[in-house]
Amino acid sequence: MRSCIKCGERFATRTGDPDWVECARCREPKEEGAGGMMEILTPKQVAEQLAVSVAVLATWRKRGVGPKYLRFNGGGLGRGVVRYTQGALTSWLVSCLVETQQGGV
Ligand SMILES: [Zn+2]
Repeated sequence: MRSCIKCGERFATRTGDPDWVECARCREPKEEGAGGMMEILTPKQVAEQLAVSVAVLATWRKRGVGPKYLRFNGGGLGRGVVRYTQGALTSWLVSCLVETQQGGV
């Protein structure tokens, strides 16, 4: 165990590890807006990224397809607010990749 020079938290090192002076959390790149898991996107931003319309996104939500989304319901008042996260969007995009090979579409 050693102490992180940044946050002071104690962290474990394993044999073979480089001589870390920071804990795993402080070592992670923390660039603002660099695809963080909880970067919140509006349907409009997602539509722009995917080059589809917001109506297409709404249809996907109704059909239960497309990227996972967040729904903040308005306590029964109105339809609530729909938001996406960059992380969920990115994993969904990866899952949409179609392998190119002989005998494809
Ligand atoms: Zn730390």
